[in-house]
Amino acid sequence: MKTPITLLGLGSMGRALATAWLAAGHPVTVWNRTPGKEPAGAAVAATAAEAVAANRLVVVCLLDDASVESVLASTDLDGRDLVNLTTNTPGEGRVRAEWAVQRGARFLDGGIMVPPAMVATPAGFVLYSGSRESFDEHRAVLSAVARPEFTGDDPGRAALLDVALLSAMTGLFGGIVHAYAVTAGEVPPTEFAPMLAGFLTAMSGVTPQGVGERLASGDHTTGVASTLAMQTAASGTLLRTAGEQGVSTELIEPYLALMERRVAEGHGDEGSSGLVGGLGVTAGG
Ligand code: NDP
Repeated sequence: MKTPITLLGLGSMGRALATAWLAAGHPVTVWNRTPGKEPAGAAVAATAAEAVAANRLVVVCLLDDASVESVLASTDLDGRDLVNLTTNTPGEGRVRAEWAVQRGARFLDGGIMVPPAMVATPAGFVLYSGSRESFDEHRAVLSAVARPEFTGDDPGRAALLDVALLSAMTGLFGGIVHAYAVTAGEVPPTEFAPMLAGFLTAMSGVTPQGVGERLASGDHTTGVASTLAMQTAASGTLLRTAGEQGVSTELIEPYLALMERRVAEGHGDEGSSGLVGGLGVTAGG
């Protein structure tokens, strides 16, 4: 028999996970605060404590760390392998790990890097950190929902990487929203969409790698094609265009302001990697 799993939390992500594990042939026991969301084929526990008692492998996918703590408070975690797939901060991941270990559990924190619709597809991956023994033992089970990547023993590391990736996405989405706003009413969104997608794909193919290499070397100037001074000069065009189109600049202004400050501080010959140091951290690998 395939490893039986307990899953607490049947929101849109929890339901996708439960459905994927059931489809892969795992017996799944579920519990959710609000009943009636159980996927067909799952065993339904009346309480969280009953669900946790049912299986050694316990997965939680709830709204936030506070809901994880309150739901698990009534359960006996002794001897359990607890996998927390709830989005949290690195600090919350570390505190939750210690909390779980004190209650006799092995703890893995996970950051799911796909929307529910992409669970159990090749595009999906989940970042894990914490107990390597638990990860190694359950790697095959975890693979049924998304490619698992173990990132280290520090239970906060998966959350750190998860949130860093989500932060990059936040900036990207802000730029996308601004781009649609300035073209609104003049360029049909359906015409603009493929152009935008193509441009962002081309940029994402080089920019993250290039910035990373410069941060690792500490050299932010040699061979930089687009310096901060050059980008700052061009940014006036972005702001004036938004003005002409009657669009708020609130989404792009903080980034442009950071560039201007770095140029004013004498870093105009640097590329974008130099901006990392402007956020109060020491840039470097
Ligand atoms: P939903 O809002 O759809 O579901 C939230 C779940 O948490 C529900 O099961 C809800 O129960 C439960 N819950 C909320 N508050 C409490 C509480 N105080 N006590 C007990 N249960 C509670 O969220 P998702 O399923 O989409 O997300 C779950 C986790 O997965 C989040 O941490 C999210 O960041 C993460 N995630 C989600 C992604 C997505 O695209 N959806 C992508 C990657 C990660 P009830 O049904 O009773 O309300």
